[in-house]
Amino acid sequence: MTEAFAPRVHTARASSWSKLFDCAYSWEGEHILGMRKAAGLRAHLGTSIHASTAAFDAGRLPGAEPISALDAADVFVDTLRNPDRDVDFKQDGLSVDDAERIGLSLHAMYCSEISPRFAFHSVEQQLTPLEIDCGGGQVVRLTGSMDRARVARHPDGVVIPDVKTGTRVIADGVAQTKGRSAQLGTYQLMYEHTEGVPTVGGQILALSTSSRPAAAVSRIWDAKRVMVGTEDQPGLIQIAAGMFRTGLFPPNPSSPLCSAKYCARWNTCHFKEED
Ligand code: SF4
Repeated sequence: MTEAFAPRVHTARASSWSKLFDCAYSWEGEHILGMRKAAGLRAHLGTSIHASTAAFDAGRLPGAEPISALDAADVFVDTLRNPDRDVDFKQDGLSVDDAERIGLSLHAMYCSEISPRFAFHSVEQQLTPLEIDCGGGQVVRLTGSMDRARVARHPDGVVIPDVKTGTRVIADGVAQTKGRSAQLGTYQLMYEHTEGVPTVGGQILALSTSSRPAAAVSRIWDAKRVMVGTEDQPGLIQIAAGMFRTGLFPPNPSSPLCSAKYCARWNTCHFKEED
């Protein structure tokens, strides 16, 4: 009689999944080997804006107690000045006061110009775990919430708008969608798995944390397409399954995130092309 082997289950946060397709070697270091690095102040500024805009949007959900933009701004200041994780305040050449000025300006723009354009169903919704059978006895279980994303009503169905911050999220006044399909496609798939209803696509709500704060909303696009592929072409899920099945996570020294600032594996990685 053949003995049945239990599959090896890798649990990964859905919100980390897109980084697997940027530099898989870095993703393995952080999410399988447990390597960590402190966030820079600009990244922490983004986290703080996410917290305050999420508080504001949660107050706009059906039946919720509204929260004013002014009260939600307190969430921003509190998160910025009292981080609950390691933050390297010297890394980005940005003072906390400047970060606060930029963040408050973006928070006000978001609450007055962007949020009112949407009818939200949920904010940072908890998702039902989704298991991907990679073959070879390896299973990936995606878990967690739709970190930083919302679910919104649209005439054609449900859309997943995702708040993105950073200095390059807007170019020539246009919210950038390049490189966002893995994240939004994962959220589309997991939302459909959780709620059993189809989604129309993803959308980027871009907040630029440069010294000239700006906000923009992208077009809606079907991000799920690149995750599932077609009859003739593999999707990213199939490619990810190959990595887990073989244990080979390829490096990407050409990644824009290949730097000591962003990569937790930087110090020990022999694939990087600069010291
Ligand atoms: S240093 Fe560059 S190539 Fe190496 S793991 Fe980090 S991002 Fe990838």
